[in-house]
This record gives sequence, structure tokens and C-alpha cells, in this order.
Amino acid sequence: MIALSLAEIAAVVGGQTHDIPDPSVQVTGPVVRDSREVVPGSLFAAFVGERVDGHDYARQVVEAGAVAVLAARPVGVPAIVVDDVQAALGALARHVVGRLGTTLVALTGSAGKTSTKDLIAQVLGRKAPTVFTPGSLNNEIGLPLTALSATEETRFLVLEMGARGIGHIRYLTGLTPPRIGLVLNVGSAHIGEFGGREQIAQAKGELVEALPPASEGGAAILNADDPLVKAMASRTKAKVVLFGESAEADVRAENVRLTDSGQPSFRLHTPSGASDVTMRLYGEHHVSNALAAAAVAHELGMSAEEIALALSEAGSLSRWRMEVTERPDGVTIVNDAYNANPESMRAALRALAAMGKGRRTWAVLGKMAELGDEALAEHDAVGRLAVRLNVSKLVAVGGIEASWLQLGAYNEGSWGEESVHVSDAQAAVDLLRSELRPGDVVLVKASRSVGLESVAQALVEAG
Ligand code: ATP
Ligand code: MG
Repeated sequence: MIALSLAEIAAVVGGQTHDIPDPSVQVTGPVVRDSREVVPGSLFAAFVGERVDGHDYARQVVEAGAVAVLAARPVGVPAIVVDDVQAALGALARHVVGRLGTTLVALTGSAGKTSTKDLIAQVLGRKAPTVFTPGSLNNEIGLPLTALSATEETRFLVLEMGARGIGHIRYLTGLTPPRIGLVLNVGSAHIGEFGGREQIAQAKGELVEALPPASEGGAAILNADDPLVKAMASRTKAKVVLFGESAEADVRAENVRLTDSGQPSFRLHTPSGASDVTMRLYGEHHVSNALAAAAVAHELGMSAEEIALALSEAGSLSRWRMEVTERPDGVTIVNDAYNANPESMRAALRALAAMGKGRRTWAVLGKMAELGDEALAEHDAVGRLAVRLNVSKLVAVGGIEASWLQLGAYNEGSWGEESVHVSDAQAAVDLLRSELRPGDVVLVKASRSVGLESVAQALVEAG
């Protein structure tokens, strides 16, 4: 963080200083909420969680070098006491990004936020110092913490924004107002909570409503291939830049194909030139993510050649997203267990099919959560797609949703032994340990709550 005195922080957040002998002392280190991340110069934000109360760590963090605690009550060590620690953190983030001359890029969407954020960070990072959301910390606490990690050197701040309901993105953009806003897609993630795709679009579109007008540099980067996203053009005063595979897109891909190893390759077209990209990441869904990143980078002054090179060299920065491990015995494990929704399931299955040409392919799949009324139909459709893509074996893991996956596969192809339903992760591991043969390719994927990364991990170690 930029150095700020405790007095200034207290004024910004409207807090009372307690047990602070010298309010001119500065916070120089990061603002953190996890006591284990405290380093000398830190400000520790005390949150009351379900199991732990950050206030209980006040003495410990000060001993570890924290300058003060941002707290909801006096804690016997230097503290800035506020009514609402979360709101205070937000106010501090707003103050800090307002002082910095950093260009803020915010993105949202149903699937691919973290993957795309990592791509944008790697592309922009080649041009100038870039700070970005670590992992998926995209909520009202993670976002200000990320913004507060920017410094005077930071040229670009890339922020993932998650929306779980109407008004959520508006709140986040109020804390860290973006100049560039990117909406990836409106899918079915969290559809159960929202009530429908229109509502999801309503919530995500709040991002483009928050952008400054085109005359002040505002740019809305929208997916031309997603009608609900494209329609958001009418909700913004910012300049609209379309990306996608359709011909009307300003930034688009031509000759899209998957290499034999399942990596997308295409010709990137931007308004100022074209260049070829072959990605190191797996799965065709990254074409859309790459185009989105390219549109952002082009808007920020990078050339097609620079962008294409950066995209071709970009790796995955976040775990469990199409993480490919080649075992010494020739078995390939694709760990995509971070999360799943219908769109990403389909993309991952297609990547598996491309990677597995001429090899035996296994799809080890668990449930897709939060689909509401569409749950049965969506699981059924994924099971069917596995058959249509000629996946050799489907291992459906878990409860009722897994049986829907299996049933879909069965109904599509009258499968018998090609699809099995096992009750839990351990059963899946046991089955695969005994069945895998050299040359097999295994995709492991389910919603976060299923925790299938344990299966992927066990299979990687079994090699
Ligand atoms: P979360 O809401 O959990 O933060 P996210 O939007 O950040 O998710 P990622 O973590 O990037 O998304 O990816 C989640 C899953 O979606 C992964 O399995 C990934 O392979 C897949 N995915 C990534 N990009 C896309 C895309 N453009 N379309 C469909 N699926 C995608
Ligand atoms: Mg994410």
C-alpha cells in the first residue's frame, strides 16, 4: 500500500483512534485480514468470521509488526475503531485508488473471470507494472484488499468482480471505479440464487453503467457472441468495444482451431492489425477469454503483435483450472476441479476430446451447483455431450446430480459399462487407480463444493 499515517486512515474511514501514542506513524506494509500474512508495517483488518474473531489476534499481529488494527471495538493495542470494518476497508480502498493515477480495469461474467483476469494481468504486465486480484478474491472484502496492494508504481489495476445479486457490482464499482469494464458472458452460474438469466444480466450490466463516458476514456468491453452481454451496450455512456468470433466484433479471432494437444490457435484481429496466437492454455473457451484480454490491452495502447505474443506465452496463474500433469507412466491428468457450470463443463469436455484423439479418455465429473430448476436438464445434457464427443468413460461422482449425468450418457448412447456412478471421491480414486492405463487422459471437474481436486491430486501422485 502507499504509505498513510494512522491519523489520515482514521479520518478517511471515520474511525476513532485507540491506544495510539503517535497518530503520525505510517502504515507502509500491506493491509491484511489474515494474521499469518502480517509483516512489519501492516494494517490488520479484524473481521468476525464464523469460526474465528480477528479481534482475538490483535495482540499477536501487533507483536508481529502490524502498526495498528482496524477493528470494531477497542482491543488493548493500537487500533482504529469503526462501526463496520468492511465498509471502512472499502472507504480506504476508494481513497487510495483515488490518490493513485492507476488505470482500473474491472471484469465480471458467469464463467472465466479468474482465467481472463490472469490473462489480462499477464498481457498488461508486459507493458507496465500491474496489480491484480489474487486467485478469485472478488467480493466486498477481497476487492478492497487487492486495490490497497497497489502502489505509486502501479499503472494497471485489474480487478475481478463477482456478482451474487442485484446491486453487488454497483457496490464494488463504487469502491474502485473502473475506467475499463469487461463483461465476459451471462451463463447459468448462480442462476438458482438470481432467478434467471435476465436477472443475471441485469446484475452484471451494473459494471458498464458505472463507467465514465467515452469522452473521459471509459470503455465497455462486451462479448459480441453473447446476446445478453452485447445488449448491455445500451446501458453505458462509455465507448463500446466488441470482442468475439462474430464478424461484427472489433477484436476477433479467425481460423480458430485446437492443436492436437488441445491448445487453441487462431489469428487475432484488432482494429490496428492482426497477429497469430497459439496458447499454452488448454480448451477452446480460452479463445473468448483471450479475445477479451486482447480487447482490453488494445484499448490500453498495445499492438496486435505485442498482445499475440503475450497471449501465446501466458500460463495459468490460478490453481485447478485445466491444470495438465503428464505422469511418468504416460497418463495425463487434467485438473479442472476448481469449479463447474454448464458452459465450462462443455468447454472442458471438448478440450478433453481434442487432447484425447486416439487415446482413451475419462471424464470424472461431479455436480454443478446452484442451477435451480435447470439442474436436472443441465446434468442430463452434460452426460449426453460426453457420449457425443466420444469420451471413453464417464465416472459420475456424488449424489443425485451424478446419477443425472450418468443417465444422460446412458440415454444418449445406450451406454452400459462406459458410464459408472460412484458415491464419493475416494471411490472414484479407487476405481481409477485400478483401471488407468498408459496413454489415458483424465479430466476431473465439478463445482467447488464437491472438492474433486482431491481426486486429481491422488491420481497425479499415483503415477
Ligand atoms: P468464480 O465465479 O468461481 O470466481 P470464474 O468466473 O472466476 O469463477 P474461472 O475460475 O476462470 O471462472 O473458471 C471457472 C471454470 O470455468 C473453469 O473450469 C474454467 O475452465 C471454465 N472457463 C473459463 N473460461 C470460460 C469461458 N469463457 N466459458 C466457459 N467456461 C470457462
Ligand atoms: Mg474467479
